[in-house]
Formats: sequence, C-alpha cells, structure tokens
Amino acid sequence: MTGKPYRGRLAPSPTGLLHLGHARTFLIAAKRAAAGTLILRNDDLDTQRSRSEFVQAMLEDIAWLGIHWAEGPQPDGTETGSFGPYAQSRRGSLYTAAFHQLRRTGFLYPCVCSRKDLLAAPHAPHAEDEDEPIYPGTCRERNPQSDEIATWRFRVTDGEEIRFHDALLGPQTFVAGHDFGDFVVMRRDGVPSYQLACVVDDAAMQITEVVRGRDLLRSTARQILLLRALGHPIPAYAHVELMRNEHGERLAKRDAARSLRHLRESGLAPEEVRKMAFTNIP
Ligand code: GLU
Repeated sequence: MTGKPYRGRLAPSPTGLLHLGHARTFLIAAKRAAAGTLILRNDDLDTQRSRSEFVQAMLEDIAWLGIHWAEGPQPDGTETGSFGPYAQSRRGSLYTAAFHQLRRTGFLYPCVCSRKDLLAAPHAPHAEDEDEPIYPGTCRERNPQSDEIATWRFRVTDGEEIRFHDALLGPQTFVAGHDFGDFVVMRRDGVPSYQLACVVDDAAMQITEVVRGRDLLRSTARQILLLRALGHPIPAYAHVELMRNEHGERLAKRDAARSLRHLRESGLAPEEVRKMAFTNIP
C-alpha cells in the first residue's frame, strides 16, 4: 500500500435516491482522497433494480454536495478516466474471467440448494447487514467439474480469522464459518455477486483505500479472501458509522424525506446538508 498514489472510490448503486447516510460516507471518502484520485463507480450490477434516472440523480446529487471525482461517469453524460467502463453493467467479461480463475484454482463449488432449503437452515441472517445467511455446507462436496446449473460458492476455511485494520474503527477480526459462511460468487442466472464484482473492480481500478458504510464490514472480510485467492493486493479500509433515524434504524433508500434530492428541493444549501450528514437526525 505504501508509496502508491491514493486512489479512492464512491460506489453507489442506482437503485433509489441517495440519502444523508450516503452523503456522510461520500464526504469522508472525498476528504480522504483529497490529495489523490477519487473515482465514481456506478454499481449497477443488479439490472433488475438499477434505473437510469437514479444514475443521473446520484451523479447530480453528489456533485451538488460539492464532491468532484476525477474518474467515472459525469453529470453531463461524459465519462472521464482510463480505467473504464465505470459501470458494472458493462464490465461483465472481467467478472466472468475472475470467476473462471477461481473455479480453475479450486476455490469454488456448485450449490443447488433452493431458496427454501436455505431459509430452512438453522443459521439466521445477521441483523446489521442485509447479508446472506451462513450457508450450512450441504453442497460442499459436490463435483466442481460439474456443468449443472448452479450457484457457485466460495469455500471458506471454518475457523479462519480474517483480520484487518480499519482506519476509522481500529482492528477488526472476523471468523469464517461464524461471521459468514461459504458465500455466493456467481448466481445461478450467471450474474456475479456483489462480492466478486466489487473486488474485481477495486483491483482493476487500482483502489488503494475502500471507504464505505459500516454495514459492509463482513463483506470486507469476504472480499479479503477473494482478493487473496485472485492474487490481488489488499487495499486499506475505512468503514463509516451508519446514519440512523429517530427510531435508531439505519437510513434506507425508502426514507424519502432524508434523500439528498428532497433536502435539495426543499431549499437547503449544500453546506447545510453537509452539516446534517455529520449530526445524527433529531
Ligand atoms: N454499491 C454498494 C452499495 O451501494 C457499495 C459498495 C462498496 O462500497 O463496496 O451498497
């Protein structure tokens, strides 16, 4: 990590309007990248939920906050930077190549469990991250050469500790098989998982520090395993505290009143919204 010019990224998904929680994360990310390069990546992997009007809204709202990025799609419809394309929907061949590499090198196995099987499994999903439940391992011994239609999972080593230092939260340790299980890398319908797309892009875009919400801490542990398996360097990490509403719940894209778009249209200045992003909601 040392010596490499800082490259940070904002990676919003265009599945709704951005809210104050995103503003907080992105303002911190922009500040940390002030002496380096900031990239904006359009995480539109989920084509079912991504919409072009949300792409445009997120670019405009982030720019309105006063954040400027050197690489990625710009609000005027152009794309800058030489690590593109910067939309995940256009990077499929990179994800496929990484999937084949992982499969060839023995990190994956095919899983034919149905959603129903998984829901019936004895492990409950973690509350804080809208995350996959711990996989019970039913298909672990399935033939990895098989050409059956399947979900492909990364086999973790149960009990392995994954440690990293978080620039904002300090030392972190997660235990494979306990904090997360064998996770999905490629869905049955051929769509790569967030975990795979994220590490492929962070590596290809030479990201040196990943700044994102605290809800993704366990994803970071998985991503470290993926990066290692693919032979990529591990970036630095900074996870930002989530913004909560008056009930103590984390903000979600459905909290329309806290959307940057709404706050902006209600007449607030960027400076005021920047301040709100660092206070908890009254
Ligand atoms: N696109 C992801 C999200 O909006 C964030 C990905 C990341 O920062 O790694 O939740």
